[in-house]
Amino acid sequence: MSCLFCKIVNLEIPSTPVYQDELTYAFVDINPKAPVHVLVVPREHIASVDDAGKEDEALVGHLMTVAAGIARAKGLTRGYRVVANVGDDGGQTIDHLHLHLLGGRPMTWPPG
Ligand code: AMP
Ligand code: ZN
Repeated sequence: MSCLFCKIVNLEIPSTPVYQDELTYAFVDINPKAPVHVLVVPREHIASVDDAGKEDEALVGHLMTVAAGIARAKGLTRGYRVVANVGDDGGQTIDHLHLHLLGGRPMTWPPG
């Protein structure tokens, strides 16, 4: 498996962990776009939101509550953003489903 995030989940490539449980692994983005920029990924390889099936609904929901828990733990009381980029037009560069948790500064809308 040549997937970068699978290698990170399996600790074959170093990362800065933020949270982990039996289903998910969260780590600091190597190229942060905000004071807090954490990636939350499923341990299981799912390529994108577009590849998540009915059977993945609980897992994908869990990713969201994990992101919210990390935001709470980081003290992001003013708010934050949770983003999943999907495919080329969505700006996805790593084909392993991940949520971006961004916070610590005001976000603009719409995103670029
Ligand atoms: P996306 O463009 O939505 O696919 O997001 C991929 C994210 O992975 C980008 O924000 C990258 O900065 C981040 N990234 C790439 N390589 C690494 C790495 N080795 N460790 C942590 N984050 C990474
Ligand atoms: Zn993967």
